[in-house]
Amino acid sequence: MRSYQVADFGAPLVAAVGPAPEPKGAEVLLEVVAAGVCHSDLHIWEGGYDLGRGKRLSLKDRGIALPLTMGHETAGRVVALGPEAQGVSIGRTYLVYPWIGCGQCAVCRRGDENLCSTPNCLGVHRNGGYADHLLAPDSKYLIDLDGLDPIAMAPFACSGLTAFSALKKVAAEIKEQRLLIVGAGGLGLICLQIIKGIGAKGAIVADIDPAKREAATKNGALAAVDPRAPDALAQLTVANGGPIMAAIDFVGSEETSSLAFNALGRGGKLVMVGLYGGAASWSLPLIPIKAASILGSYVGNLGELRELVDLVRAGKVAPLPVTRCALHDASRALTDLRAGRFIGRAVLTP
Ligand SMILES: [Zn+2]
Ligand SMILES: [Zn+2]
Repeated sequence: MRSYQVADFGAPLVAAVGPAPEPKGAEVLLEVVAAGVCHSDLHIWEGGYDLGRGKRLSLKDRGIALPLTMGHETAGRVVALGPEAQGVSIGRTYLVYPWIGCGQCAVCRRGDENLCSTPNCLGVHRNGGYADHLLAPDSKYLIDLDGLDPIAMAPFACSGLTAFSALKKVAAEIKEQRLLIVGAGGLGLICLQIIKGIGAKGAIVADIDPAKREAATKNGALAAVDPRAPDALAQLTVANGGPIMAAIDFVGSEETSSLAFNALGRGGKLVMVGLYGGAASWSLPLIPIKAASILGSYVGNLGELRELVDLVRAGKVAPLPVTRCALHDASRALTDLRAGRFIGRAVLTP
């Protein structure tokens, strides 16, 4: 088994070769067909998050142990089953749900393993898909991809799911009103695909990059605004025909979150998703005056991922175009992602 691992935070990935693990209990061994390269991998690779005002969240202090094989957007073919694995078959292709919790606490038992306080996520806390094989800890985390393209589906395990779960938090608002999407990278584009399939009113996009604004318009955005334009707020209001009632910030910088917050009308909701970093610079009194809701959304749960795959299978959500990269080019894919060189998603194919 060959994997590409973070051996030192920020250093190029290191190739590791060893025997593939043998599945025990309900574990399942898959041959990796596709491993999405996600923005959050950049944070893991770099070892932390910028919390703003000079503070930093260090993943090392949070118990992320190296070496680590990243990769939480994995699709693969089952090659071996533990004796207690159920409902999956050797030779079939599955999408692997990566946001795994302890399975025991109240949060996990209600189905929100992604919010467990002792997480065991694939590619974050345990080895993930930047490899030719992946060990899934339980067959229940596998979603059958029967008939779907595993390379196009891999990014749904994180970016698709993240967009879907964020959209669910403004489901009522976006039936009546246009949604403001801040950031037209991979997440923003997948969000545009999903809203077409769930009966939403459509979306307005804000992004500083003209190429990304163009990609957003091609993917169905009703308007695309440069957030650095001096009249950006007025343009958003005009494009929406009134103040924004629902916004999702897929960037999460001081600049983007303040634009989204300032664009909100009274009673509006802002869902924060992006982890770019920094601290909020909004006026605190405007939160109660606007009666604004600010919600965080972190990936999504297993039920939501199953629901999303069903939407794709039903033809309601189209998968995004992906750029394929060879597995041994994983470091370069990360560097290109950091430089913003991909439109859509990058997927490693062993
Ligand atoms: Zn991710
Ligand atoms: Zn738990």
